[in-house]
Amino acid sequence: HAKAQGRGEIQPYSRALRTENSRRLTLESHLRRALAQGELFVHYQPKLCLRSGLLSGFEALVRWRHPEYGVIPPDEFIPIAEETGLIVPISDWVMRTAVAQLAGWRDEGLALAPVAVNLSARQFLQSDVIATVAELLQTTSLPPELLELELTESVSMADPERSVVVMEGLGKLGVILSIDDFGTGYSSFAYLKRLPLDKLKIDKSFVQDMGHSAESLAIVQAIVAMAHRLQLAVIAEGGETAEQVAALRKADCDQLQGYFYSKPLSPEDCAAFIRENMARAAATA
Ligand code: C2E
Ligand code: MG
Ligand code: MG
Ligand code: MG
Repeated sequence: HAKAQGRGEIQPYSRALRTENSRRLTLESHLRRALAQGELFVHYQPKLCLRSGLLSGFEALVRWRHPEYGVIPPDEFIPIAEETGLIVPISDWVMRTAVAQLAGWRDEGLALAPVAVNLSARQFLQSDVIATVAELLQTTSLPPELLELELTESVSMADPERSVVVMEGLGKLGVILSIDDFGTGYSSFAYLKRLPLDKLKIDKSFVQDMGHSAESLAIVQAIVAMAHRLQLAVIAEGGETAEQVAALRKADCDQLQGYFYSKPLSPEDCAAFIRENMARAAATA
């Protein structure tokens, strides 16, 4: 791998760097087999309504159970998957798995809420993601409003003109469209206005700094106000404490996906979470 070698040459000899590079190369070759060998799996993190405290959706988050290294988080292997192109079959698999899981919960009589999947750069800009989503909705007869697609600003800004076209195509299918990690990228309001968006997802860095940074609190409040003026829903990512939840409620944020409510859950634990939520919803109705 030329890039990895080049990085090694300009550094003084470093065991740590060599270990890191060789782990990366090993993961790269193992990732090719991971999907076929059933080593990838999906956890689901609940999203809750900050007003009612009730379930309003899930995010599907992929993990890799490596036979020697144990569970590897997506932040480590998604970039490798992007570079190698493996991200396209992996993303397709995650989307199919998430939709099939929702159908499974429906068949068990569980109340449904939308499931969100992350769109990667290659999948969004190079693959025929509109056809993939259209086919998936057709074959599963899932109502499109139960599928949400999360796209980061950096992915969408990599090719703004194409992004507008792809987002319009996806929007026509009726799925929910969100901007992920909002506030960390460089998209202008003029550009955002052109996208058929439903929701902004505030990056967890602002949410987690709110308590000790007046600037972060102001940014969160400003994003919520702007989103609402643009008729967009707004969700905070990463709230962990009661103080953060109180500040988000006060700012009129709509939803929260954070450890305060729940970590990402296995399908079984998530089904239990849905049942418990159904009982609470019935009690408050
Ligand atoms: P993301 O899409 O922004 O997902 C949210 C991340 O924040 C998840 O990390 C989630 O576990 C974490 N999180 C949620 N609440 C809290 C909290 O209260 N505290 C803290 N500290 N963290 C919280 P995760 O699962 O490790 O995923 C990391 C990133 O990997 C995701 O960020 C996403 O960019 C990427 N990713 C995950 N699954 C997929 C996938 O299927 N496809 C693609 N393309 N990317 C994925
Ligand atoms: Mg996401
Ligand atoms: Mg995010
Ligand atoms: Mg994030």
